[in-house]
Amino acid sequence: MPVRHDLAGLEGYHSPQVSVEVRLNTNESPYPPPQAWRDAFLEELATVPLHRYPDRSARALRTALGGLHGVGPERVFAANGSNEVLQALCLAYGGRDRAVAVFEPTYALHSHIARITGTEVVVGERGPDLALDLAEVHRVLGEARPAITFLCSPNNPTGMVDPAGATRAVVDAAPGLVVVDEAYGQFAPRSCVGDMSDEGPLVVVRTFSKTWAMAGLRLGYCVAPARVVEALEQVTLPYHLDAAKQAAGRLALRFGAEMEKRVTRLVAERERVARALAALPVDTWPSGANFLLLRPHDRDGTEVWQALVDRSVLVRNCATWHRLAGCLRVTVGTPDENDAFLAALAAVLAP
Ligand code: PMP
Repeated sequence: MPVRHDLAGLEGYHSPQVSVEVRLNTNESPYPPPQAWRDAFLEELATVPLHRYPDRSARALRTALGGLHGVGPERVFAANGSNEVLQALCLAYGGRDRAVAVFEPTYALHSHIARITGTEVVVGERGPDLALDLAEVHRVLGEARPAITFLCSPNNPTGMVDPAGATRAVVDAAPGLVVVDEAYGQFAPRSCVGDMSDEGPLVVVRTFSKTWAMAGLRLGYCVAPARVVEALEQVTLPYHLDAAKQAAGRLALRFGAEMEKRVTRLVAERERVARALAALPVDTWPSGANFLLLRPHDRDGTEVWQALVDRSVLVRNCATWHRLAGCLRVTVGTPDENDAFLAALAAVLAP
């Protein structure tokens, strides 16, 4: 039996994991979670009745997350990584005869997940500086009437933050949900969480994989109107969030101050790396995230990527991606990792 015809030709999501000393390719936190969190988590894990199914509604976790954002648990949906939140949104609001809109270049999984769920993807283009182009947004939304409009702020892979006015304009123009992916939201000067209401149509998606330093545990969530949360629960498998993860996420929220410190440190490092890049023959984009996009002048991006790997530094090779010819994306790491990256790049780009 062949696979679904609409899956044929769909490429998977690949981020090659090469064995190197400095790994700056997947935008994780370079620091592990606080030891005190680890201790509290392991202590609680010892008491979890593992022969029983977990709390299906993850009530305690959702209440704690709601508390973080000033909303009740009925406005919070949690899943195995924010990718699974995006999948639930496409399952509930996409599907046959429905479309989502994305504005490229942006996070590849928005369109990939939509296609996997049998949803048509309508692609708009960002402007020449890779910022959201509101005329193009109006054109795409007017023509395609998408069920979901995906935004990503800070945008992956550019790092650029959508101005408040732009998000509001999209919300005013969108016929369906507007999903703002804020996987990197804590690194940015502004967030859409404060603009949300129970009437919609805004949904804000967040993850524990970056600032919370828990990529290995796979936990993400969204804040949304209560009716959207109900719809997401409808398309989710029973007991999808295991007991360990629910405890891990709930306990992590007690360590907000440590998380803030880590964010401050990484933002300072991002600005230091950006200043150092300004002295090298590369173009960069203003980033509100924990990574930077750069384009070496007059060099083949893949050759530069390989030369960095040869110096044991792994960054993301975006050189062949749509509109990103020759570009590389580097995650902000520890000061030592960033120094190693900058030294390797300077050596590779030396005349
Ligand atoms: N959204 C964006 C913009 C991302 O960059 C990522 C991680 N690469 C995710 C969502 C998914 O994160 P996770 O599934 O680990 O929560």
